[in-house]
Formats: sequence, structure tokens, C-alpha cells
Amino acid sequence: MHKDLYNAALYHRKTEYQKFGNKVDYFQQQNCLPEFKKCFPEYKELGSHALQATLKRVDFAYQRFFKGLGKYPRLKSIRHYKGWTYPCGSGWQAETNGKNGHLTLSNLGRIQMRGKARTWGKPTTCTIVFRNGYWYASITVQCNPQRQTDNGSVGIDLGCKEAITLSTGEKISKPDFLKSGQQKVKMASSSLRRKRSPNRNQRVKASRRWKKGRAKVSKLQRQVTRQREDWLHKTTSNLVSGHSLIAGEQLNVKGMTASAKKGKRKKQKAGLNRSILEVGFGIIGDLLTYKAAEAGGFYLESPTRTLKPTQRCAKCWELTPKTLKDRTHVCSNPECGHVEDRDVNAASVNVTWARGLEQASLDAELPSSTKCGSMRQLGALKRQKPRPCD
Ligand SMILES: [Zn+2]
Repeated sequence: MHKDLYNAALYHRKTEYQKFGNKVDYFQQQNCLPEFKKCFPEYKELGSHALQATLKRVDFAYQRFFKGLGKYPRLKSIRHYKGWTYPCGSGWQAETNGKNGHLTLSNLGRIQMRGKARTWGKPTTCTIVFRNGYWYASITVQCNPQRQTDNGSVGIDLGCKEAITLSTGEKISKPDFLKSGQQKVKMASSSLRRKRSPNRNQRVKASRRWKKGRAKVSKLQRQVTRQREDWLHKTTSNLVSGHSLIAGEQLNVKGMTASAKKGKRKKQKAGLNRSILEVGFGIIGDLLTYKAAEAGGFYLESPTRTLKPTQRCAKCWELTPKTLKDRTHVCSNPECGHVEDRDVNAASVNVTWARGLEQASLDAELPSSTKCGSMRQLGALKRQKPRPCD
């Protein structure tokens, strides 16, 4: 029913504009709802706020389109319709103290739920999502997340060989399961390619084996994604729990993973890109930012272009040009002669820079509000503010 309402609202906007040139906004559609419910009385049971939330989804899709962030909204089939939202306390109730429990939805009954919240509070909204063949309830709560942290500062350097290098010399390498998981995905998708795929133009239907194979591939992909997210959360939480000041560097992931246009190195570049994306460089900074803020610490990013942490010497601040091949830093300044691992040196440069900044402005503004740390929300935040390409 929510899907039908979504499609109706979308069609309403589309035809009003195409036939009469009227631009329908959210409030016009919201005011139509009582009339709509007179024609379709079955919608009364769903609750007016939940219906309004569905109309807001339509509005959101159009806003994204107008800003140039998304394509023109499409009519959705039930297979591609994600779910619905209860934007306030009515229509649902969660009987839980943050770990497992029961969820009562009006008209749907009492459902057992599984899951754990790190901090629990007063539940405010609930969204039911159907994703990857499973039903999820996403509940937002009012809470004040707190984290333990320790004194001390650390610099980090992200790399391909070792995922994260700390200025203390400790190295956190990329977990093996990511690689073996990718391998499994690769094997499953190559077996999928041998099966009969659907082709609309030639009126070929997908074979049953193809459908099974596709389900297998997506299951494996989900597994790898979850493993990566879990690893990222655990690693960043560990970093934050040990240090209150963490210094990294600004990364232009989009630029770094741009594919090589031509030349012999195309495949090599593709492999490098994969290993950068596999670790999830882009998200590490975001995770550290909100986790450090929760703990009352700081995560700072040094300006890579002006500071050049890989080339600068951590001891004497002199620049030594290096290529990707040079794994150790040997200072070119004859008076210094500092020799250290390349990544450890870069991490130390970052932390020295951050300490200097902290000294310069001890009363720097505190990062106040913290966003919830779900990957989806962080992703949405990123998509809303496209950074200018440099
Ligand atoms: Zn030096």
C-alpha cells in the first residue's frame, strides 16, 4: 500500500507538470491525503504520519533530482520498494532495553526482534526496511553516546600494503578474510556468467540456475561488506579508546581511485584501486571523526597537498622526494640523517602537525553534535555535500 501511495504521488507530480505545467510540492500532496483516504478507506489504518512520511520520500527524491544529485524518480515495483517509516511514536512500540526484545506494529502484530544498541534511549522513529531479502527495523533513539578514551596522541597513515600504520610503529594489516571473501565472490560470479541470463530483446528468460547463482553472488557480497564494516568499526573504536588526539591526512579517494585511462599500467591501477576500496579508506576518516567526538577527543586531518607527510622528515621537517617504491624514509638533510619506515614516518609527521595545531589553538571549537555512525547515514551525508573536485 505504501508503494502504491508512493507511485500515485509520483504520478501526480509528473502529470500535473507535463499536462498543466503545475509544480506540485509536498504540502499540496499532504493536503490531498484526507480526500485520498475517503476514496481508499483501507489507508486509514496505516496512520496519517506514516503516510506523510511516504509522501516525504517522494519529495526527497525530487529534491535530489532538482539538485542534480539523482536521476528522475521512477515508479517502483514491489521488488524495488524499500519500506516505510513511522516518523513519531504512533503506530509502533518497541519493548526492549536495547538488546533484542519485541516490536509491535499496528496491524502487523508483535514481532520478535534481534539486535543490540550500544546506547539505548527514548525511541523516536522507526523505519521498516526490506533489504537483501531480509526485513529490518531501524529505530532511532534519543541518547547521549559516550565513549571511553585515553590520554595521548597518535598519527595514522593509510596505505595499501599495511592498511593502517600508527606513529608508534604498530601496523594494522588488511584482514585476510577480505581477500578470501573477494575470491569467493569472483568464483561465484564467474560461474554465474556461464548460466543463461535474461535478455529482454531476444525474449530469453533467466534460467533457474542463473537465478540461484545470482542469489549466491549477492549473498557473498553482502557477507564481505558486513565483514569489512565490522572490521572498520572495531579498528577505529580501538584507536579512539586508546588515544584522544588522532591525526590522519586528507585523502582524495575519488581522485586516488580514478581508473587509468590508457597505457600498460591500466590493470595495475585497477588492482591498486581495488585494494584502496577494499580497505574502505574513505570511511575511516568519517568513523574516526564521530567516534572521537563521542569520546570528547579529536580527529584531525592534515592538508596532504601542503604538508606532504610522505616526503617530509618527522625529525627535521625537511622534504625528501620519494616514489611509491621507496619503502624507507632516509632524510636528505645531512645533519639529520633520520632513517625510518616510510609509513611510520608519515604517521609521525601527521601527529606532529596535529600537536602543533592543538598548541596553537587550545580553545578550538569542540565538534558538538555527533551523527549516528551507520554506514548508510555517513554515505548519505557525503552524497549531500559533493566536494569540489580538485
Ligand atoms: Zn630529517
